[in-house]
Amino acid sequence: MNKITQPDCIFCKIANGEIPSSTIYEDDDFKVILDINPASKGHAIIIPKNHGADLYELSQEDAGKIMGVAQKCAVAMKKALHCDGLNVLQNNGEIAGQTVFHLHVHLIPRYKGDTVNINWTHGEAEDAQKLAEEIRQAF
Ligand code: AMP
Ligand code: ZN
Repeated sequence: MNKITQPDCIFCKIANGEIPSSTIYEDDDFKVILDINPASKGHAIIIPKNHGADLYELSQEDAGKIMGVAQKCAVAMKKALHCDGLNVLQNNGEIAGQTVFHLHVHLIPRYKGDTVNINWTHGEAEDAQKLAEEIRQAF
């Protein structure tokens, strides 16, 4: 089926094979490649073949499939890389660290003693019931 692509989007070009990449997995809907500036050995990114800038624009269909791809890749990566752990990360918006505005999911293998830093300080929850209600109302 034809994919929705955006001209001048580097990940559209990679996902659809116009630009070569180090591919570890591919199916009809996704390409998974090694990150060009890896956070750790084997850092990979899952790229949908359909363009959407971020999670808000991802189709329900691709959203439903993408964690299945992450699961398959995680199993293969653990087997091949012998990593001690793995972070699954997906950034939306500049403030969240997004630099390429075609949705992608990071698979970051973790090794004992590595220098990868994905930590935050834990705050105090305020008005959780009210906040939950506000979000429920937004669906
Ligand atoms: P993010 O900061 O979440 O938008 O992630 C973008 C990621 O894409 C970064 O980790 C980059 O190193 C990676 N990246 C950018 N261009 C390429 C490319 N041509 N091939 C592979 N990875 C890339
Ligand atoms: Zn794109």
